[in-house]
Amino acid sequence: MQKKKLGFDTLLVHEGYEPDSQTNSCAVPIYSTTAYAFENTEHARSLFMLEQDGNIYSRMMNPTCDVLERRVAALEGGVGALATSSGHAAMVMTFFNLMSAGDELVSAKSIYGGAVNMMSKTLAQLGIKVNFVDSDDPESFRAATNEHTKAYFIETIANPMADVPDIAAIAAIAHENGIPLIADNTIATPYLLRPAEYGADIIIHSSTKFLCGNGSAMGGIVVDCGSFKWLGNPRFPEFNKPDPSYKGLNYAQALGERAFITKLRTHILRDIGACQSAFNAWVTLQGLETLSLRMKKHSENGLAVAKFLQAQPAVEQVYYPGLESSRYHALAQKQLPLGSSSVYCFDLKGGRDTATVFCDSLKLLKIVANLGDSRSMVSCPAVTTHSQLSDEQLAAVNIRPGTIRISLGLENIEDILEDIGQALKEVEKM
Ligand code: PLP
Repeated sequence: MQKKKLGFDTLLVHEGYEPDSQTNSCAVPIYSTTAYAFENTEHARSLFMLEQDGNIYSRMMNPTCDVLERRVAALEGGVGALATSSGHAAMVMTFFNLMSAGDELVSAKSIYGGAVNMMSKTLAQLGIKVNFVDSDDPESFRAATNEHTKAYFIETIANPMADVPDIAAIAAIAHENGIPLIADNTIATPYLLRPAEYGADIIIHSSTKFLCGNGSAMGGIVVDCGSFKWLGNPRFPEFNKPDPSYKGLNYAQALGERAFITKLRTHILRDIGACQSAFNAWVTLQGLETLSLRMKKHSENGLAVAKFLQAQPAVEQVYYPGLESSRYHALAQKQLPLGSSSVYCFDLKGGRDTATVFCDSLKLLKIVANLGDSRSMVSCPAVTTHSQLSDEQLAAVNIRPGTIRISLGLENIEDILEDIGQALKEVEKM
């Protein structure tokens, strides 16, 4: 009999865990162990040879992380997932799984500044070239593609300007060229948007943000949607020939739709070692249970503040895809029907000076280099999260010296609006 497909909210609470038979523990335990006792040497050998599933060593797998991985994979509609020590680790290990010196990545230019910096400096140091393109123009991905291209990269709601790329259009160009599309879904989360439904092949999260949701545990997660055809793909010989670092395993042939995520774990995570701790996976699981309730409220607060800001004389522009005035509004209605999350930017008239007075006058909202927290927070990307970008790179994605990024939390909307209102009054006094 076919297993009934569970609803999203049920998956949030149950997927990947059954009370364990020894303790009947109802909540997911924190398996704080580095290693696992093998039954005998033959059991050890067969686990190392991937002949059967099981735990070997916590750098590569851990039962608490396993629950988180299964849960997020199910929420995103993927075939498997891998928890990592941070969102950055998720990105870097994904790139290492696909690319080496001489290879190229095509990335949207309007993305998290730390990712731009890592791509243009650290990947470049390793001989991997990144071509930055305009995600508003899917054809620019095709134009930047050549025989060395190994992946396309986008953020489904971009940090900080909340650009919304047309995922299906970019995925179609990727697949015409035999290239996987990687989508960072950190700001949308699978509650608001499931990129696999639009053709993304690999999904990345900084679980530090909304998945955990309370700002108390660093983490990342990579989801393999199982859709990409690795077998026989001439762009990916390393998936189609024996891996000398894993006893000659041929990933595409032996693992089919799980080729990417298995290679990521057995080869890249084994060698890089940026694993998630059992404790952080457990903290993230506590937050994850309430994802639907939280994202609904984050999006309501996001929209209410965007409407409020738009009506203020001191405000020049608000960049929120949920606003009817946004150039992404039509796309957001299609890709983000449940809401547009709560991370976006706005500009005050007067630029950097007014932005400084505004931010310094806030009392409830804190100035923080983070987003996706239960607390509301602001930052100026040009001097914080995107400060390593050149003036040209900032201008190319519309970030001005005084642009303010906001991340609305879960507080009462009246209190958030009162705090923003009193800070705007300070700006008006200038
Ligand atoms: N992806 C996005 C969209 C982000 O905003 C960030 C960090 O702000 C990251 C990835 C990196 O995540 P982490 O800080 O967990 O390494």
